[in-house]
Amino acid sequence: MRRAIFLVFAALVVTTCLQNVLLEGQTVPANAPYKDPKLSADKRVADLLSRMTVEEKAAMLSGSGWMESAPIERLGIPAIKMADGPLGVRSWAGSSAVTSAANAQVEVLSTSFPSGVAMAATWDTELVQREGQAIGQEVKALGRDMILGPTVNINRVPLWGRNFEGYGEDPYLSARMGVAYVKGVQSEGVIPSVKHFAANNEEFERHRIDEQIDERTIHEIYLPAFKAAVQEADAWTVMSAYNKVNGVHCGESVPLLTDVLKKDFGFKGFVVSDWGSTYSTAATVNAGMDLEMPGGPPMQAWMTNARMQSSGSGAGWLTADKVLAEVKAGHISEVTLDDNVSRILRVIFVSGLFDHPHPGGGEVDTPARQAVALQGATEGIVLLKNVGALLPLDRAKIHSIAVIGPNAAVARTGGGGSSLVRPKSSTAPLDGIRALLGQDIELKSALGVSMEGEDPTQDTAGARAKALKEAADLAAQVDVAVVVVGRYPRLESEGSDVKTMDLPEGQNELIEAVEQANPHTVVVLNTGDPVTMTKWIDKTPALLDMWYGGQEGGHALASVLFGAANPSGKLPVSFPKRFEDSPAYGHYPGENLKVDYGEGIYVGYRYFDTKNVEPLFPFGFGLSYSSFEYSGLKLTSSNASTGEQAIVRLKVKNTGARDGAEVVQLYVHDGHSKIDRPVHELKGFKRLKLKAGEEQTVEFKLDRAAFSYWSPEKKDWAAEPGTFEIQVGASSRDIRLRAPLKLLN
Ligand code: BGC
Repeated sequence: MRRAIFLVFAALVVTTCLQNVLLEGQTVPANAPYKDPKLSADKRVADLLSRMTVEEKAAMLSGSGWMESAPIERLGIPAIKMADGPLGVRSWAGSSAVTSAANAQVEVLSTSFPSGVAMAATWDTELVQREGQAIGQEVKALGRDMILGPTVNINRVPLWGRNFEGYGEDPYLSARMGVAYVKGVQSEGVIPSVKHFAANNEEFERHRIDEQIDERTIHEIYLPAFKAAVQEADAWTVMSAYNKVNGVHCGESVPLLTDVLKKDFGFKGFVVSDWGSTYSTAATVNAGMDLEMPGGPPMQAWMTNARMQSSGSGAGWLTADKVLAEVKAGHISEVTLDDNVSRILRVIFVSGLFDHPHPGGGEVDTPARQAVALQGATEGIVLLKNVGALLPLDRAKIHSIAVIGPNAAVARTGGGGSSLVRPKSSTAPLDGIRALLGQDIELKSALGVSMEGEDPTQDTAGARAKALKEAADLAAQVDVAVVVVGRYPRLESEGSDVKTMDLPEGQNELIEAVEQANPHTVVVLNTGDPVTMTKWIDKTPALLDMWYGGQEGGHALASVLFGAANPSGKLPVSFPKRFEDSPAYGHYPGENLKVDYGEGIYVGYRYFDTKNVEPLFPFGFGLSYSSFEYSGLKLTSSNASTGEQAIVRLKVKNTGARDGAEVVQLYVHDGHSKIDRPVHELKGFKRLKLKAGEEQTVEFKLDRAAFSYWSPEKKDWAAEPGTFEIQVGASSRDIRLRAPLKLLN
């Protein structure tokens, strides 16, 4: 028997070798079917695969460089040339650490778009799709094929170093934004990568941390944005995350990559590893990893780097020799290998890359793309407080203004790490205000306090006291003081979490001193996260959050300050009063490399609103220079068994004197549930542009998903028939209209 098995095995090996020798020597005819753009992608893949040797297939599973997949020249298979994103096209030469530095040797300049959290604050899916398209165009202009974004990880903790990259705390909002971005990028024939799959929610020990997440929580909170990107936008690639989930690294997780992503979601594209997140060969390939990055000589060099080694990164496991050895040993089947390669080839065909390579040489930072960046930065600004209608500032009445703070005269366009884009030019708040005002108004500025850690000579008690006094003196002399505070890439970045929710050293004191000197003080937050404001918020008349607004942030801020634009952004994250109030407090960052997602599904407003903890500013909140009235809520029932959707209609009127925009939010409340559910969940939103006095009818359609929860028993989504409450409002805590809705069956 054993002899028979051996003989069959030996025969197989000989046949494969023979086949390989034959294939290797073969020149490919010019009319080979896979070269025919008129054939379907599946037919082209099948034909091309049949012409590949096992060695060639194995070679495709790891990159050939830091940002390139492996080309197979004999067959004309191109390398996929990648670039980091998601907030614009970042330099791809060299390792992450090298290319975000201001003194990087290779300068790749491109349009710097607002941070993801700022784009989420616009609630403008049409705009995010245009942003994706604009980024896709820049990818091509720079001769690349793939952008490593969008980031759709949920903001679970206010201290995550990458909160600014993603779309906030709510899975529905993140899903809408992610879908829009992916559609925009793919419409240009450019490959996006939805990242990081899954639940990459802290940077603390990001390569080793083991997240304990229950099944319901991961399906309801951390997976929906990925699911939507795959099912609604047909995303071509997904990037696996660094962290472990329930004991297994995401890059070798059968439950995540095979069962959920490929089987349940029906993902047809390829999975790319995050850079340095592989730890095995057969287990990784068999779990569903298709492409390991980085690869080739840059990966080999990187592996000798002491920081890489001590960080817990893993790389170099899917190299051709290792994969081949595992195929020969029978630990990876040829069917699996074929599946991996087919997925990569399919993307090369469906994206158009095979037929229309991107030679580059196009223009970057065109006026059209600047306009998208400016619109995002403007619509994303959230007006959080405006006592006595201090804003908008009236140019006719103001004669002098002081712009103060460590973020006043410097354009802090984004957070740190692989998403940081170097624009050709960027506008700081001070410059944006100067550009808008011209010579009309006297404009002065002061540092107030240096940015913690940026300039050691200014980081002393003496230097701080001097800068603070200068700022307070200046504030006392002007009509209005604008204080721009926040962080910068070294304090808020990929690779490490933010140390505290407090503003950096000296910034609270600066706000207090300026407010004391001048009652007409506007505070502007320039950071990706909520910050503690206890010390000054009660005395602050006007507060704006500009997030990281990309290269146009300064212009956007100026237009909102002076009323050229009416603020319309709404918070995509709840702002807790203090870190101790946030749901993950006590479940972060974990102990002994394990973190228990003990708050479960109660993330963000699901926690604040259900457990009656008052946030400083609630999810969905944002003021306008106009006011909006909601009326006439009407709805029809939903019948799940006939697939009939519920229709919700209402009217919204701009009752103010200015044109503006309102983000109308729809939440579903399940009052009859047998299981524990959040008091309400966002299931729809519309951003309406309304002229002063204008009224519009808004319509929402709700399908079964809007009423469902994840049932671990059924291993599926389930909705209990009965009466739900539809809530429509201007934030999660400002519900203006409610009505019951029956879900039949
Ligand atoms: C980040 C990814 C990024 C990759 C390549 C990783 O450290 O987590 O988001 O795309 O590097 O730079």
